[in-house]
Amino acid sequence: MSADTEGCAFCRIANGEFGVRFLYEDPDIVAFHDIAPKAPVHVLVIPRRHLKSLAEASPDQAALLGKLLLAAGQVARQLGVAETGYRTVANTGADAGQSVAHLHLHVLAGRDLAWPPG
Ligand code: 5GP
Ligand code: ZN
Repeated sequence: MSADTEGCAFCRIANGEFGVRFLYEDPDIVAFHDIAPKAPVHVLVIPRRHLKSLAEASPDQAALLGKLLLAAGQVARQLGVAETGYRTVANTGADAGQSVAHLHLHVLAGRDLAWPPG
């Protein structure tokens, strides 16, 4: 375990340490409910591998990034919001309010989502 992954809550969730229920999982990705939902549907889709943010992603991770988006779409279909609509967000860095330094896509749905976001 590197200094980054040690103590990373999302690495621990991906490792199954807290028994968090996965809505989706494959060898590279897991998805689970946000602990403090900001919408009726609020799911986080993360790579199992620790990657701080999109700012740290490299071209050799293009397939993984694509898989994250596809997994978000899959979760939206599973939760029945694919037709009504959903928002996929990746907060990156301090100005965007990223609070967990392990790349994650938010999937938000189930209410009228304001635009532009705050
Ligand atoms: P960020 O602010 O980094 O874009 O999003 C982090 C999200 O992770 C927040 O919506 C927050 O509620 C969620 N979160 C933080 N810690 C945990 C946790 O331990 N479990 C779960 N399920 N969600 C978490
Ligand atoms: Zn991590």
